[in-house]
Amino acid sequence: MNINIQYRCDICSNTQLNEDKCQCCGSESLKKEEYVKENSQSSLSSNLEVVIVGGGIASLSVIRCLIEKGIHSITLICKEKHFPYYRTAIPKILLDPPFCNNPQFFIEQKKFYQKNKINILLGFTVKLIDLKNSIVIAEKDLVRQEIPFSKLVLAVGGEPNKPPFIQQSSSNDIIPIHSIADMEAINSLFETRVIKQVAIIGAGLSGIEISNALRRKSAKVTVTLVEIADRILPRQLSKTASKVFMDVLLKNGIQLKLNSQIKAILCEGNTKIIEFSNGENITCDLICYSCGIKSSVQLAQSIGCKINHGIIVNEYMQTNVSNVFACGDCCEYNGRCYGNWTDSMKQGIVCGKAIIGEFTKYIHTPMPYFVFSFIGVYSVGIIEGESILKQNGNEFMEIFLKDGCIIGGNLLGKIITKVQRDLVTSIERKTEGEEAQLLIEKWKTYF
Ligand SMILES: Cc1cc2nc3c(=O)[nH]c(=O)nc-3n(C[C@H](O)[C@H](O)[C@H](O)COP(=O)(O)OP(=O)(O)OC[C@H]3O[C@@H](n4cnc5c(N)ncnc54)[C@H](O)[C@@H]3O)c2cc1C
Repeated sequence: MNINIQYRCDICSNTQLNEDKCQCCGSESLKKEEYVKENSQSSLSSNLEVVIVGGGIASLSVIRCLIEKGIHSITLICKEKHFPYYRTAIPKILLDPPFCNNPQFFIEQKKFYQKNKINILLGFTVKLIDLKNSIVIAEKDLVRQEIPFSKLVLAVGGEPNKPPFIQQSSSNDIIPIHSIADMEAINSLFETRVIKQVAIIGAGLSGIEISNALRRKSAKVTVTLVEIADRILPRQLSKTASKVFMDVLLKNGIQLKLNSQIKAILCEGNTKIIEFSNGENITCDLICYSCGIKSSVQLAQSIGCKINHGIIVNEYMQTNVSNVFACGDCCEYNGRCYGNWTDSMKQGIVCGKAIIGEFTKYIHTPMPYFVFSFIGVYSVGIIEGESILKQNGNEFMEIFLKDGCIIGGNLLGKIITKVQRDLVTSIERKTEGEEAQLLIEKWKTYF
């Protein structure tokens, strides 16, 4: 084992071999530290230089896995200037702008990266991968870094899907619901303009959470949710459950525009006019949108990875290019880009293990979805086919069965806490027949 010297930046945790200004953030506050470099025969870790592109839950899961296995020669390159954070919690920034500095918002704290000697480059974008020489080239303003790798992980997530009517609009302040920067952009518009009418395009999970946050931000704001489908949360809720939840939204002052195909968005000064295909239109001061995610594939494509909707990976998160892995929202496994938190996390773990030669197959299992806005909404499993339903006001339960076997459910209101765990267990155990019926009867008594 050799004792080596490196310099760690107090501000961003970047490590480098010289004591000049930090190559990552320009800070002059660098501390000398020793690190142990094992010799080449002693372990697998000495041969590994893992570079991970993208700072989300997928990449952090890879890191956690590698650390657990004693691998510390890891560089994490994040385009955003923040440590990996809970993307699902960004709506909170609208209500409480300082929340984006709150430790609870970050999946791991700065000291985690310091303690584990992760070389983390915040605000750097990988522009180029030199596969022949196994080097990643990352840039931040005029700073350019070349980072060698033996294993490369692409965990670059996705970009908000931009429908043609947004691409063609002349307004550049139609804001996606995707990152801290987007929430800061919305907050800044509220500070600098009078915002009374907001339209949210897309009534999925994030569209609804943002509607709630905006209503709570200012009671004077009118929020209209615009959705092309005939109901809200069409992927998570049955028609009946969706109807119950829609009534709750309406009672809370959210206006709904369903079955609404947008033709164009016009701008007159700061005012925007959404024109619908049926000839109707609405006027608003701010438009936010959440119309799905498009996997980021450009980097992978540039080095010859196979691409379909996402970067194609096998069950170990390996791409077709040797020593290059992909996981999270950017990848496609078995013909599907899952685009959710839990799958990104699970794929990251599978990827981390594969890097060190521990091959465990990735298996997708249906995961529950929660909405915490207005009343709780919970959805798990398959939401189609025959169902058994019980409702009392906003308390709602619909259980889905196939050939007598419990396959999924929608729960709304306080009933969630009473039924949720048993419901998941019954789906996992494929509870069927009389046992399933008795269980559902028991759940009905909770109303
Ligand atoms: C408001 C909201 C609510 C959500 N709610 C839910 C929910 O209830 N349940 C659920 O399961 N999922 C939910 N999701 C989706 C979930 O957050 C994502 O599926 C998950 O965060 C994806 O993680 P990831 O690590 O794959 O990618 P990301 O979190 O997107 O991270 C990828 C990172 O890579 C960076 N990057 C891209 N290109 C480069 C480059 N060239 N160089 C360097 N860095 C790069 C990006 O800037 C980004 O920071 C929600 C998402 C949002 C926005």
